[in-house]
Amino acid sequence: MKAPTSVHRMVRPQVQTLSFSVLPDRAPQLIDITEKVEQLIAQAGVSSGFAVVFCRHTTAAIRINENEPLLLSDMEAFLERVAPREHNYRHNDFSIRTHNMTEDECPNGHAHCQHLLLGASEIVPLQEGRLSLGRWQRLFLVELDRPGREREVLVQVFGCA
Ligand code: ZN
Repeated sequence: MKAPTSVHRMVRPQVQTLSFSVLPDRAPQLIDITEKVEQLIAQAGVSSGFAVVFCRHTTAAIRINENEPLLLSDMEAFLERVAPREHNYRHNDFSIRTHNMTEDECPNGHAHCQHLLLGASEIVPLQEGRLSLGRWQRLFLVELDRPGREREVLVQVFGCA
């Protein structure tokens, strides 16, 4: 039997799940998490593969966009126009709502509607142990609801060392 060449050698891909939390100080707020995600990718020691960056919440999103301060304020204003906080949402009517009510329930119908347009995750290819983002691409956690709560971000790394 022929010995496998380096090109054909089977390399078993690994899966690692890492996480960190973010504490937003206002809403809406786009928080650049690129450096934190890159630190975790470096820890994972995966040189080639991909990473799923996933937020475990229905009112905080993960998006890729540009980190330019004026643009960040444009995007925050855009979210507020799309689903204004002061609009009427049935989700906020605690006199009729019976589902998923908690002790500290807040009126956040706007944040769920904004989240619907954004999404909970992004997938980024990894090359030479780094996120292969374009020149202006950065990863953001987008807080849509309210400040002062820790938001959990999972980074699941798939690939080979
Ligand atoms: Zn809610």
